[in-house]
Amino acid sequence: MAKNSPPTDTKDFTGFVRVRGAREHNLKNVDLEIPRDALVVFTGVSGSGKSSLAFGTLYAEAQRRYLESVSPYARRLFHQMAVPEVDTIDGLPPAVALQQQRGTPTTRSSVGSVTTLSNLVRMLYSRAGDYPAGQGIIYAESFSPNTPEGACPTCHGLGRIYEVTEKSMVPDDSLTIRERAIAAWPQAWGGQNQRDILVTMGYDVDIPWRDLPQKDRDWILFTDEQPVVPVYPGYSPAETQRALKRKEPPNYMGTFTSAKRHVLHTFANTQSPLMKKRALQYMLSTECPMCHGKRLRPESLSVTFAGLDIADLSGLPLKRVAGLLQPYATGAVGSQPDHDAAQLIVKQRIAADLAARLAVLLDLGLGYLSLERSTPTLSPGELQRLRLATQLYSNLFGVVYVLDEPSAGLHPSDTEALLKALAGLKQAGNSLFVVEHNLDVIRQADWLVDVGPAAGEQGGEVLYSGPPQGLADIETSQTRRYLFTADHEQLVRTPRTPAGWLRLSGVTRNNLEQLEVAFPLGVLTTVTGVSGSGKSSLVSQVLVELVAAQLGQEVEAEEEEADPLERAEPAELGGQIVAGMEQIKRLVRVDQKPIGRTPRSNMATYTGLFDHVRKLFAATKMAKARRYDAGRFSFNVAKGRCENCQGEGFVMVELLFLPSVYAPCPVCHGARYNAKTLEVTYRDKNIAEVLGLTVDAAWEFFADEPTILRALTVLREVGLGYLRLGQPATELSGGEAQRIKLATELQRAQRGNSLYVLDEPTTGLHPSDVEKLMAQLDGLVDAGNTVIVVEHDMRVVAGSDWVIDMGPGAGDEGGHVVAAGPPAEVARVKESRTAPYLARFQA
Ligand code: ADP
Ligand code: ADP
Ligand code: ZN
Ligand code: ZN
Repeated sequence: MAKNSPPTDTKDFTGFVRVRGAREHNLKNVDLEIPRDALVVFTGVSGSGKSSLAFGTLYAEAQRRYLESVSPYARRLFHQMAVPEVDTIDGLPPAVALQQQRGTPTTRSSVGSVTTLSNLVRMLYSRAGDYPAGQGIIYAESFSPNTPEGACPTCHGLGRIYEVTEKSMVPDDSLTIRERAIAAWPQAWGGQNQRDILVTMGYDVDIPWRDLPQKDRDWILFTDEQPVVPVYPGYSPAETQRALKRKEPPNYMGTFTSAKRHVLHTFANTQSPLMKKRALQYMLSTECPMCHGKRLRPESLSVTFAGLDIADLSGLPLKRVAGLLQPYATGAVGSQPDHDAAQLIVKQRIAADLAARLAVLLDLGLGYLSLERSTPTLSPGELQRLRLATQLYSNLFGVVYVLDEPSAGLHPSDTEALLKALAGLKQAGNSLFVVEHNLDVIRQADWLVDVGPAAGEQGGEVLYSGPPQGLADIETSQTRRYLFTADHEQLVRTPRTPAGWLRLSGVTRNNLEQLEVAFPLGVLTTVTGVSGSGKSSLVSQVLVELVAAQLGQEVEAEEEEADPLERAEPAELGGQIVAGMEQIKRLVRVDQKPIGRTPRSNMATYTGLFDHVRKLFAATKMAKARRYDAGRFSFNVAKGRCENCQGEGFVMVELLFLPSVYAPCPVCHGARYNAKTLEVTYRDKNIAEVLGLTVDAAWEFFADEPTILRALTVLREVGLGYLRLGQPATELSGGEAQRIKLATELQRAQRGNSLYVLDEPTTGLHPSDVEKLMAQLDGLVDAGNTVIVVEHDMRVVAGSDWVIDMGPGAGDEGGHVVAAGPPAEVARVKESRTAPYLARFQA
């Protein structure tokens, strides 16, 4: 049983939550006592078990109890969590989780809708807007483009009109129909079928499209008729005509569908974002002439507030909206004589309510966002802060908020605002359980729970639970080392000298305008600045796109967009590279996106390590005797996998009144392979057992296999020795995924001249993990590469060779390079908001 230091001074706290025997994931039968109505911070290295304790146990249990109290019907509506592995928990209040969501949100939502501010703004327009003379009052719903009452009748609330033309569906009119002139038709069999139907109908499918009579072209592309005709696949046009004459029985009867009908039908009805995207390719979109992209009907747009219609107001930064509301909220406009007194009171009350809520968002450093900004374009940290703000003004009390690294994406100056917001929730009588790595947040805790000592099986114990200063005595704690050492004592280094410069000119994107920037080559550069200052626009968008374009490399598309309509027009390549490209041969982005979306991908498959393992199995005596090749040892191939679960290892069980659950496959018991395959062993382990090894264990097991060993060594170096080789991609955190990508890169032969771009790689990493990451990045630079990192962790910034500080503020108050130079120089720039925090690291 884990040691749990008794609370030293418990009288300051109103009550405690008591956990007995927590065994979720890697937790080792943990007992824990933590105070309510306090800020409790969970610390520990990545993979130590913090989330398993805070989310997997405490939050899951609160959720389960809540669900127990509602009807089975309501239960189905909730995303249900598994019952946590724990003996008992006492004193637990109801909980609200504010977790970082990495995948793409599937629902159409915006800043206004997730914060519910849109409802209030609609109310403001409905009840307190300025109406043109003679127009009756309009209900609040009519100010939403997503309702029939509000949607512009011309574009149905889309803001754009989609249409198909001959040019859009037949991009190359020198092709014949047989050569697929009609690109918009389905590919493969579907398109062939339409062509055969046209042959039956006597159209010439072997002359260039442009030589067909216009009347025929129009009919083929645009008709709504759907004639059904006999089809003779494989016959030439002449043979077809003969067969028709002889009334030969056809292979089947085919239904004609015009290209327009096909595209519009697919667009309107498909569930697949990919198909929708394909259809969209053949459609021209233009701004709706009626609403000019504002998506609302004219009557709704005729109502104004402070001279703006609701669409214009929704496009403004929240900070500006707050400014507009101010005079109404304080009643300052009430002095104007030409206003109706009753309406002014309504106006003031709604404006004041809205202003108060906006103030919370501004405090959290989100004033640069607009209400209409769609959530897929927000970072996970921004989304979490929006949700946090919504909680702050919902005035709940007696609730536990469980948060996952709320400081992610925050500049140290924004973190101070976050701490104030958390203090506000606490004062209102709530408890806060926060998983955090940021030392500034950890220092503010009323109570610390340090989990460790290491990750995975080497973690899962509570090393310390108590007021922060008590951690100083815990020798096994990795957190202690960072918490009680002054920042400037941690680093001494001389910045490297750049080997050249990558110069960008005329950079224009989001809040960047005609920016000139120079990135040093052959060194480690960090790009800093408050949230919203333009770091990602500069680095992850423009720099990456320009370099990729020059190298002829494809920028991986944003995968699986929820809805292609939600994507703005592809941004123009605003800017150009004017020097330095000759020193870059390759661009590599290392982000936190999952390495796969299904349990079929895992670390072993992603890194390529599994290919070598499978070859070893195929080379064993038994495999050779049975003629098993390497494919036999893949759980994605029919030959060797368990057919019952198709190699997934588990099956979905449908329950009558509950959400479906995954259960281990009853045939292979989770092994994923069939019995025959599992009979083959390599050094006494079958392939499933090898997938079950941790990286550390595999490192010993494969000691004599240099190729496999090299891959395993880098995985250990980036701090992932605790992961199992076969751990499904779906169970990995963003930070783990990122380090797997980095390790995959590092095991390649290093030729130098690569440009590595990383956006906040320290998210989810304990300071000790950050050190490991830094060592890897330094290794890349030493091998002759360039590394550019968007970063808030001042430890990393101070340890870099060059800093580009963006700002000075967020949104239209940012977008400039405030300072650029080695860390020690930037630390002295007065205008830089980063400087004071960086200065702490200078001796
Ligand atoms: P932390 O929050 O400290 O980074 P976690 O609680 O996420 O750590 O993980 C603790 C251990 O549990 C790790 O070894 C991790 O790989 C494992 N783990 C996390 N999630 C799951 C899961 N869904 N299924 C199985 N193991 C998991
Ligand atoms: P940072 O990376 O420094 O937090 P960003 O580059 O993400 O800043 O944002 C800079 C500005 O550009 C902000 O005002 C932000 O709202 C805006 N912005 C960023 N991405 C988008 C986008 N996809 N669509 C519209 N505006 C965006
Ligand atoms: Zn319209
Ligand atoms: Zn199975």
